[in-house]
Amino acid sequence: MRDVDLEGGRALVRVDFNVPLAESNGGRRVADDTRIRAALPTIELLRERGAAVVLVSHLGRPKDREPELSMGPVAERLGELIDVPVRLAPAVVGEEVEALAADLGAREVLLLENSRYEPGETKNDPELAAALARLADVYVDDAFGAAHRAHATTDGVARLLPGHAGLLLEREVRELTAVRDRPQRPLCVVFGGAKVSDKIGVIDRFLETADEILIGGAMCFSFFRARDIATGDSLVEEEGVALAERALERADRSACELRLPVDLVLGREFDAGTEVRELDGVEVPDGWMGLDIGPRTAAAYARSIAASGTVFWNGPMGAFELEPFAAGTRAVADALAEAPGFTVVGGGDSAAALAAFGLADRVNWLSTGGGASLELMEGKELPGVEVLADA
Ligand code: ADP
Ligand code: MG
Repeated sequence: MRDVDLEGGRALVRVDFNVPLAESNGGRRVADDTRIRAALPTIELLRERGAAVVLVSHLGRPKDREPELSMGPVAERLGELIDVPVRLAPAVVGEEVEALAADLGAREVLLLENSRYEPGETKNDPELAAALARLADVYVDDAFGAAHRAHATTDGVARLLPGHAGLLLEREVRELTAVRDRPQRPLCVVFGGAKVSDKIGVIDRFLETADEILIGGAMCFSFFRARDIATGDSLVEEEGVALAERALERADRSACELRLPVDLVLGREFDAGTEVRELDGVEVPDGWMGLDIGPRTAAAYARSIAASGTVFWNGPMGAFELEPFAAGTRAVADALAEAPGFTVVGGGDSAAALAAFGLADRVNWLSTGGGASLELMEGKELPGVEVLADA
C-alpha cells in the first residue's frame, strides 16, 4: 500500500477487530484493544495520504445479527485512539451504507457493522463481495488474523478492487516467513495448549526443519499416552494419541529433538483453589491431573530457549489462567523475554499470557494471528495473502 496514490480516493480496509468485549454498566466495551492498536499504522498512513477510510471486520460468531456483537464499542474505542470520531454504519452493505461511504470526506473514517451479520461473508458470496466493492476505489487487507479464511471481505472483494497489503499484514508475513524459511540456528519451537490435533501439521513441519521441539500444556498427555505412561485424570485428547505416536516415530528418524516434560505440577481438579502437588516424574496417579510443567522441565526449556538463535512459541505450558499452574508458562515467557535470539509468539492464549505477564513488548514479534500464524508456519497458502499476490 506504500506506493498507492489515494488522494481523494476511498479505501476499503479489512481489519481484524475481532476483540474481546466486556460488560460495563449495562453497555459493552472493548476489553483488550491490542488488535485495534495493531491496525493504527495502516489507518493513519491512509489518512495522511488523504484517503477516506472504510473499515470492515468480523466480531465473534453471530448467528442472527445479535446486538451484543455489534461493532459499536469498537467504533468508540477506535475513535479514542485516533482522536477523530468514527462513524458506525448501520449495516455491512446496502444503499444507506453506500450513501454514508460516498459522503465521507478526505481522512474521515467509517466502520461497517460486523461482517458476519451477513451470511454471505463466510460463504464468500459474490453478491456481497460486489456490494462491498461499491463502497471504495481500492482494497487494503490488514487482517492477518483472518488471512487463512477465503471470505467475502478477505477474498471476494479483493478480486473486484485493486488490492494491497496493509502494513500489519505485510509485517506479519515477513516476520513469520523469516522464522519458517531463514531461521538463525539453532531453531527451537515450543508448543503447548490444549490439543495436539490443532497443531500436528505445524509440529510435523518443524520435525523436518527445527533443531528442537519442546512440548508442554495438555497436549503432552497425548504423547505420554502414546508411550503408555499413566496420565491419571489429566485432559487427554484421544484423537491426539495416534497423531502423537506418529510424531514420536517421525522424531526418531529426524535430526530434530522432540522433548517432553520430565516433571509436572498436579491438581485435583481444574480450579485455582484445588489441592496442588509437584510430581518429580510424569506418571500421573489416579485422582490427579497434570496442570503445568514442573520446575525441572521449566528450567530445562528456559536453557534451550536461551541457547537458541530463533524461538517460536505457540501455546501455554499449563493452565496459566489458574495462578497455581501459571509458573511453567511464566518461565517460558521470561526465557523468551531474556533470550538473545530472535523470538516470535503466535496463538491467542500465548499472546494473552505474555500480555498478562507484562512481557508483550519483550519479544521480537507477537503475532495477531492464531490459526493464520500456524497455517503460514506449516507452509500452507493463506487465501487472504495469495489473492493480493495474484492482483
Ligand atoms: P493458543 O491460543 O496459544 O494457541 P491453545 O488455545 O491451544 O493456545 O491452548 C490454551 C488452553 O490450554 C488454555 O486455556 C489452558 O488452560 C489450556 N491448558 C494448557 N495446559 C493445560 C493442562 N495441562 N490441562 C488443561 N488445560 C491446559
Ligand atoms: Mg487458544
